[in-house]
Amino acid sequence: MKYISTRGQSPGLQFSEILLGGLAPDGGLYLPESYPQFSDADLTGMRGMNYAELAFAILSRLIDDIPAADLKAIIDKTYTAEVYSFTRAGQNAADITPTVKLEENLYLLSLSNGPTLAFKDMAMQLLGNLFEYVLAKTGKTTNILGATSGDTGSAAEYAMRGKKGVRVFMLSPHKKMSRFQTAQMFSLQDDNIFNIAVNGVFDDCQDMVKAVSNDAEFKAKYKIGAVNSINWGRIVAQVVYYFKGYFAVTTNNAQKVDFSVPSGNFGNVCAGHIARMMGLPIDKLIVATNENDVLDEFFKTGIYRPRGSANTYHTSSPSMDISKASNFERFVFDLVGKDSARVRELWASVDAGGAFDIKQLMPKLAEYGFVSGSSNHANRMATIRETKAKYGVVIDTHTADGLKVALELRDKKIPMVVLETALPAKFEDALVEALGEVPPRPASLQGIEDLSQKFTVMDADAGAIKDFIVKNT
Ligand SMILES: *Cc1c(COP(=O)(O)O)cnc(C)c1O
Repeated sequence: MKYISTRGQSPGLQFSEILLGGLAPDGGLYLPESYPQFSDADLTGMRGMNYAELAFAILSRLIDDIPAADLKAIIDKTYTAEVYSFTRAGQNAADITPTVKLEENLYLLSLSNGPTLAFKDMAMQLLGNLFEYVLAKTGKTTNILGATSGDTGSAAEYAMRGKKGVRVFMLSPHKKMSRFQTAQMFSLQDDNIFNIAVNGVFDDCQDMVKAVSNDAEFKAKYKIGAVNSINWGRIVAQVVYYFKGYFAVTTNNAQKVDFSVPSGNFGNVCAGHIARMMGLPIDKLIVATNENDVLDEFFKTGIYRPRGSANTYHTSSPSMDISKASNFERFVFDLVGKDSARVRELWASVDAGGAFDIKQLMPKLAEYGFVSGSSNHANRMATIRETKAKYGVVIDTHTADGLKVALELRDKKIPMVVLETALPAKFEDALVEALGEVPPRPASLQGIEDLSQKFTVMDADAGAIKDFIVKNT
């Protein structure tokens, strides 16, 4: 299986060759040259599989440069009940992604039972084990440099802690994350994890990462790697839980299912699109946004108009506060019939700060099952309250965005699965505002804010982070 770039001007590569990097050299994103297909008989065979078996059945069709037995061992070690232990009452941790039935044909898919209470663990934990394996095989090491406003950084650190050959340098805006998120990251004492609190905002952190990445000589010498949301390894890992969710709410393959996905960088819902392209009977894929509704505008009008970080709202579902959805290009590549010249043309205008209009492709958008909606702070608060009152279930603000739009666009005859992208404990302040009470927190995370913290404060200066990397490698 070769991976090709959406911009069509980079050589095709194997999975292990694209695993540690980000963008293709031509600025595009990697995709498999074709999507493997699962037949009706395949789906029937997969129906009874547990999560790790399902992951192997899917990933082994997309990864052919890691021996099957090794891939299986990596997957088996990643998806265990011990790692995904933060279940709700009545859930079985061995299901890895159990469902919650709210009412007939309305479900949550719990993706946030992993160590950092957000769905990003689902993919990042696999990436940690894949990185360690590929680095050991090639005798290489990597220094992962990233910027985070909360969820990505903690998921990356928990996945990479203690991994041989990997160091993580994670920049975050000093005193701007929640106390819980800060404690999650800064309480890690592992020698290979470096938390850097930057005097500035998230964009300053991101600018520092970009400046280092643009220094090709430094990047090569210090083997700077990334685990941001365009990493193909993360996308492919997320394809699996769409299959798991589908089988959990259906009894035969003639049934279709709708999924509602709280979206930011379009990584999660892009995995749903890929699952659908591989033959999973998905009817609708709902792209749910918050006030940062660039994608909602696109799916309603065919006009894609990113707003730039200066025009990004800070909301109570902060992990969806994205101005330019970095994975969106993957879907548009399929939408324009894999015409990479067309993709280059469209992104020439996006990269220059502009927009594009592909209204004429609106009928095709519907063929791919995409629909969309958005919500605001008041909607989130109301949805959290109503979900607790009606079903006795407490959800977080991001999941509330997904559920709000799902309820608007729902066909009650078709099972609707809302992806639960974080547990409420992660966003305590917003939950207290909605419900007047502190959301339940797993016992082992009680008092995490009181643990001793390891971090370095730094000014927003690319030279300073370079010096720090040099000193610590
Ligand atoms: C990252 C994140 C999202 C957005 O996911 P994308 O893959 O970027 O679309 C939604 N909710 C939570 C809680 C997240 O951490």
